[in-house]
Amino acid sequence: MRLFDLHCDTLSEATDTGAALAENSLAIDLRRGRRYENWTQTFAAFLPDGLSVTDARRRCATLLDTAEDWRRACTEYRPVLTAADLRDETAICRALLSIENGGVLAADYTGLAALHCRGVRMVGMTWNGDNTWGCGCFGSDEGLTAAGEQAVRDLEALSIVVDVSHLNTCGFYQLEKLAKSPFVATHSNAAAVCPHPRNLTDEQFGIIRDRGGLVGLNLYGEHLGGWDFAAVQRHLEHFLSMDGERTVCFGTDLDGMTIPPTWNGIAIMQGLWQYLRDRGYPDTLLDAVFYENARAFFARVLENT
Ligand SMILES: [Zn+2]
Repeated sequence: MRLFDLHCDTLSEATDTGAALAENSLAIDLRRGRRYENWTQTFAAFLPDGLSVTDARRRCATLLDTAEDWRRACTEYRPVLTAADLRDETAICRALLSIENGGVLAADYTGLAALHCRGVRMVGMTWNGDNTWGCGCFGSDEGLTAAGEQAVRDLEALSIVVDVSHLNTCGFYQLEKLAKSPFVATHSNAAAVCPHPRNLTDEQFGIIRDRGGLVGLNLYGEHLGGWDFAAVQRHLEHFLSMDGERTVCFGTDLDGMTIPPTWNGIAIMQGLWQYLRDRGYPDTLLDAVFYENARAFFARVLENT
């Protein structure tokens, strides 16, 4: 099977623990990723709320340095910078870099361009609280700030994908009016199945779908309404029932939460595939959800970079 994961926090965890990408006790390493015929992993540089601009930029640089160390240390790790990199089948892990909580950087255009140069291809507007760009789903009820609106324009001009996971509802609708390119929710589930502030309403899902974006299901039990495959299936089924077969994919959020030890990190996705297959989902649909939807989206976005 093939796997394209839109979100994990392994970059932060590895930076703080010194864990190697080749093999580690975190949720994601090359040893376990090797089982997938094709594996593209998004590694998020997660920046917590409340950091000063200086600290946020320093932290971001440190996390991107870790990714650069991985590139130097492992020939099996290949950064995805262009559409051609997505087609490279010699690497074990094709790696996309993203930023989670871009608004703590208070980055002007120059800053975002520098991030693009360092390999960042997707940026999440907020985390749970407020930042200089807008408000997260546990922050205040305001929408995007003027800086946040400018950031959306600047990100789009650089072909950096905008990620709305964690953004509050008001900011989402503002962004929808403003955005010219498809945008994504890398790790957000269905509010209709589990009414959690981090989950997307059907209307939000429909907007992302109609604009050609992606919604990645995460494996966090509190967002799913259970820590089991049946819960994942309920969310998947709901989005599929909304004509989401080209929209829904996975953004596991591994290493962003404590998971049951039996999951064995990223290896769990193979178990999930088998579980869904045993319940009658055809291989072509599973391949679309686990891999192809995300690959096709990024192939389009990265065509011109
Ligand atoms: Zn997150």
